[in-house]
Amino acid sequence: MAEPLGDWTRTHTCGALRADDVGVESVLLGWVHRIRDLGGVTFIDIRDREGVTQVVVRENEALMNAAKRLRSEHVVGVKGVVQRRSDDTVNTKLATGEVELLVRELRTLNEARTPPFQIAEDSPVSEEVRLKYRYLDLRRPRLQYNIGLRHRVTMAVRRFFDANGFWEIETPILAKSTPEGARDFLVPSRIHPGEFYALPQSPQIFKQILMISGMDRYFQIVRCFRDEDQRADRQLEFTQIDVEMSFARPDTVYGVIEPLMQQIFKEIGRDVTVPIRRMPYAEAIARYGSDKPDLRFGLAIADVSDVFRDADYRVFKEIVAGGGVVRGFAVPGGNRYTGSQIKALVDQAKQMGLAGLMWVRPGEPPVSAVKGLNEATLQRALAQADARRDDLLVMAAGAADGTSKLLGQLRLVIAKKENLVPADSYALLWVTEFPLLEYHEEDGRWYSMHHPFTSPLDEDLDRLESDPGSVRAKAYDLVLNGSEIGGGSIRIHDARLQARLFRRLGISDEEARVRFGFFLEALEYGTPPHGGIALGVDRIVATLAGESSIREVIAFPKTANALDLMAGAPSPVDARQLRELHLKPQG
Ligand code: ASP
Repeated sequence: MAEPLGDWTRTHTCGALRADDVGVESVLLGWVHRIRDLGGVTFIDIRDREGVTQVVVRENEALMNAAKRLRSEHVVGVKGVVQRRSDDTVNTKLATGEVELLVRELRTLNEARTPPFQIAEDSPVSEEVRLKYRYLDLRRPRLQYNIGLRHRVTMAVRRFFDANGFWEIETPILAKSTPEGARDFLVPSRIHPGEFYALPQSPQIFKQILMISGMDRYFQIVRCFRDEDQRADRQLEFTQIDVEMSFARPDTVYGVIEPLMQQIFKEIGRDVTVPIRRMPYAEAIARYGSDKPDLRFGLAIADVSDVFRDADYRVFKEIVAGGGVVRGFAVPGGNRYTGSQIKALVDQAKQMGLAGLMWVRPGEPPVSAVKGLNEATLQRALAQADARRDDLLVMAAGAADGTSKLLGQLRLVIAKKENLVPADSYALLWVTEFPLLEYHEEDGRWYSMHHPFTSPLDEDLDRLESDPGSVRAKAYDLVLNGSEIGGGSIRIHDARLQARLFRRLGISDEEARVRFGFFLEALEYGTPPHGGIALGVDRIVATLAGESSIREVIAFPKTANALDLMAGAPSPVDARQLRELHLKPQG
């Protein structure tokens, strides 16, 4: 077969030509985006990754006939001369819209079957079809932009870390089970019958060992694997910006990650103000009912327990007397709600699990859901919650965390419904001092909230045995618009404290030795204080791209049901492969 390109070399991409290029001879290579055959003249839009250029075929009959045979998505080369478009055909929406290429030669480099959906238009296509024909979906402008943005972000990350003395170091994919608390993917060993590698849930242990190894500052843009039941918008494999540094305190980590976020946001032309706001976990829960508060809008929860401690409202009074709280927030503009709108709100709150929702309309005098409450009480509650004249104060009572969490959910629902989330805005936040441990009722045990290598806060350490639930950790999450985009901690660098923590977690010395023995031993050979973080690339890029699903920023994602619809994975393997791996075929 003849070389399809002949001696042609691309001179410009399809996004390059401008008015300055008029008169230039150009070779464009790309896909037929659209064709308009107007009889004596045919316009073809040719597309590549960089854009679309209009080319014109006219007069020459052989060329006209060749053009007639073209269909959408055929791959073509055109050689011609750049000319200015006539005034009435200038397309200001297109970067190349002032010019067109008058074709002298046209080569069909390949034909294409009729695609199952339009590439040129953003016509609605089912997710299933998009994923099956991912290569076609990826040709569409939206995904071309997203994948390009992802590239720019990861390159910015690499430049940043390089400039700041971090080394990119690869860690194994065939590894030993790591302790992030999810289920491992296991890979059977052919050479060692009955033994398995685990795909890393994160490079946690390796990166800590790199600090013991004196590598000082490490980063990696790394794939991690967690065999979790697919919750909304999770992937079995996902990408992290993984970071670890020696001689670090939490503020050392913030001091690196904040300018990194500035660099990343520059890719979409946005500024990030540093320092990024910090909020202890306890405050996040109390004031926003969430460990990842969305701070693009207010509606902060206020504690008004004091107001009701002695007030004439038995329900609240008893709850406060019993150690509970009364909390609430002001709904901006809620004063104009009609009775039935308020009722809908109360019903919604109950559906979400709140026992009830008490409300107060500001005014002279204020009006409340509970008749007979005196005006001074209502005014105090309004003032304490910072409710303004136009607002509606809503309140609920019960156990502190539970009440705040439910109010936090209500806060999100109201913000969405009332359009209180400013479009195109970004709110970053550090949530700090997470609890070290959480208690699981099911098996009556304490578990690490982050992972078992997280350092407790020094001032809380003496309560590790006596009151484990109250011990805070040197752990932090980075939150963007109400999503967790990263998390990390300062690690335990003292082998004895690490052993003590394992005991607290009910991990026997024997189990610790089997699972992490190599690591515990390494800790004893001069471990510097160290800490780090991992940031989720998929979520960050999705947010920057304005996408709600991370699937839109991953070239080859799996479905919510863990399938690769394009390649057809997972798939059965033949019996011979199984035998080699010392696995028995099922059934
Ligand atoms: N390994 C942790 C994670 O993947 C992050 C960290 O502690 O650096 O969540």
